[in-house]
Amino acid sequence: MEMMENYHTRVLILGSGPAGCTAAIYAARANLKPILVEGLQPGGQLTITTDVENYPGFAEAVQGPWLMEKMRAQVKHCGAKVVEDSIVQVDLHKRPFTAIGDSGSLYTGETLILCTGASARWLGLESEERYKGFGVSACATCDGFFFLGKEVCVVGGGNAAVEEALYLTNHATQVTLIHRRNALRAERMLQDRLFANAKIHVVWDTVVEEILGKEGPPSLTGVRVKNVNTHKVSIIKCDGLFVAIGHLPNTDLFKGQISLDAEHYILTAHDSTATSIPGVFAAGDVQDRIYRQAVTAAGTGCMAAIEADRFLTIHGVMAPHTAT
Ligand code: FAD
Ligand code: NAP
Repeated sequence: MEMMENYHTRVLILGSGPAGCTAAIYAARANLKPILVEGLQPGGQLTITTDVENYPGFAEAVQGPWLMEKMRAQVKHCGAKVVEDSIVQVDLHKRPFTAIGDSGSLYTGETLILCTGASARWLGLESEERYKGFGVSACATCDGFFFLGKEVCVVGGGNAAVEEALYLTNHATQVTLIHRRNALRAERMLQDRLFANAKIHVVWDTVVEEILGKEGPPSLTGVRVKNVNTHKVSIIKCDGLFVAIGHLPNTDLFKGQISLDAEHYILTAHDSTATSIPGVFAAGDVQDRIYRQAVTAAGTGCMAAIEADRFLTIHGVMAPHTAT
């Protein structure tokens, strides 16, 4: 964390995933001298994955952390200021908008671009809380290594769950994918790889009811599951459970100040990143309940910077960037 300071800028960007980085690149190149506050996960969600095969520009797969390191370098190269801090409070009621960092720093922005992304969704079981970090995880690339030679379960049926299951076969002897329906929503290519992998077994139409384990230093022994059609309850023995059931937008900070949809995503205008507050723009997963891809996050980050630039021009804001 940086020292406590006061910052003023024409474009204040919250978040350092593909959306925030792209917004910073475009705003810097428009000479708006943006400030980007990185948050607790510098580089965002791609830093917890391995192969990225669908970000254009790379014929061979690139590693998520590597891609985000390059984006951060590009942000700095373009002249944006990157601050290691996380915002704990915002005031969107008047311009300049204000944000307070965990460091105590005060940030004021004539425009604000919200790119706080999304975080893992959990099952919501009491036993899940007990074993988080002791066998229950939401990140196979972070924790898969602990399950070398062991058996694990993965919950979910989207791209993330299938990727996690495939990745875990590098470490575990057996991977059981538990899905609540009888069809996956993951893309075809990933499904093909999943079904071709002899280490992976899929349990359909099934939900996890309870995570079972031992006390002491807590350790997982299995999961109690129920078939949603037959209501038959059974136990699957495993040493680890990876929860990959989607993400929730990081919008707690903005609740009550800006319009959100029923699932708490920031509402933006059609064909625009404009939010319910003039001068506040939102880009990436924090406002995207449909696509949620690195390239779409980058695309909307670009849109937000261009829209912020137009807003500043219309409102005649030419104040220089200062750091006092
Ligand atoms: P995020 O990447 O979520 O970044 C959010 C940023 O906001 C972070 O830097 C965080 O620190 C910051 N932040 C949060 N709160 C605050 C705060 N209070 N103050 C300041 N900053 C804050 N997409 C693909 O296109 N291809 C893939 O192969 C792919 N693989 C994936 C694998 C996994 C395991 C996961 C989880 C996702 C994957 N995705 C993939 C989806 C992709 O990662 C996201 O769509 C993309 O990262 C969204 O970018 P973003 O900039 O909106 O937000
Ligand atoms: P997702 O696509 O929303 O899938 C979530 C899965 O979890 C669904 O299968 C859902 O079941 C299941 N689920 C949700 N709530 C549940 C609950 N309470 N209990 C049990 N199961 C539950 O989420 P994701 O896989 O995390 O992907 C998020 C976004 O990131 C997507 O847009 C995805 O394309 C992107 N992503 C892309 C890549 C890639 O391109 N390679 C990799 C990872 C992620 P139902 O199917 O029944 O709804």
